[in-house]
Amino acid sequence: MTETNGRGSNLGKKGKGLVLGIDLGGSKILTAVVSSQGKILSRDHSVTPAPQGHEAVIQSIVESTHRALKEAKVEVSALTAIGVGAPGISNPETGILFTSPHLPRWQDVPLRNIMEERLGRKAFLINDANAAALGELYFGAARSVRNFIYITISTGIGGGIVIDGRIYTGAIGAAGEVGHMTIDDNGPICNCGNKGCWETLASGTALAREARHRIEGGATTSILEYAGGDIQKVGPEAVHSAARQGDSLAKELIARTGYYIGVGVANLINIFNPELIVIGGGLSNIGNMLLEPAFKVAGERAYKQSFQAVRFSSAALGRNSGVVGAATFALREMSRLRGR
Ligand SMILES: [Zn+2]
Repeated sequence: MTETNGRGSNLGKKGKGLVLGIDLGGSKILTAVVSSQGKILSRDHSVTPAPQGHEAVIQSIVESTHRALKEAKVEVSALTAIGVGAPGISNPETGILFTSPHLPRWQDVPLRNIMEERLGRKAFLINDANAAALGELYFGAARSVRNFIYITISTGIGGGIVIDGRIYTGAIGAAGEVGHMTIDDNGPICNCGNKGCWETLASGTALAREARHRIEGGATTSILEYAGGDIQKVGPEAVHSAARQGDSLAKELIARTGYYIGVGVANLINIFNPELIVIGGGLSNIGNMLLEPAFKVAGERAYKQSFQAVRFSSAALGRNSGVVGAATFALREMSRLRGR
């Protein structure tokens, strides 16, 4: 099984290769040329044409790749490898993306092989949150840590579990899907088909859904104004903007989302007893208004000793955790194949 080890590696020391990292998300594609030291030489950002299916998305990735290479003045032939971080259930050994709640109609797509054919370089596939965990392990907030959990809270919730310095990948590479642990057995229907998954209650999507629901129910709030008066445009940003201006419903909704984040975090603490939990993803940028209730609930629900042993950190690489991690994964896998 593919694995990663934060220490005892020559990554960041002897490696000279340039790698292309791709962070494929349900709404955005981030592509970067990354050095073996985790330094970003160029970045390209584009929208994921997810509703148009996988061919359109793959074409967008390829175009984004060429823009990033051009900006860095690097030929594709100069790349050591390509690392693709993708959401959903995938097998890093076969390079097949089985399914993804955030990429509709993707079924058993051999994404790694497709990228190799289109770009002519060796490619590797890893789950996007595992990639981000790897980025934080090598170059971010978890550099000296053996046991930690990376959580990304944005449209959905993803996770990467690092045990004894290695990403825990499970039997088929699908481990770490923390966003799909059941929190409420009668909760909202999830994109994965289950009910009441963590991400249906504690993600940006959940926050926006609840805000729309309350507005439609006649609640008094300024949230709608921050969405240009269009209820369909009510997203986490509008709720956050309203909350910052003291809107009581917005503050209540963010605290409620924080509460559910804390419930899931307590579960993770009890199961894994991590030294560190690194929290990334766009929603976490709300900061204390969201995270204070989360830490409070986690402290009330987790074993006291385990809670006292855990530290929390924001993702040091921010939105680059995934792209740096995907690149690092590719470089590490190339080293493994070359028997170093
Ligand atoms: Zn789910």
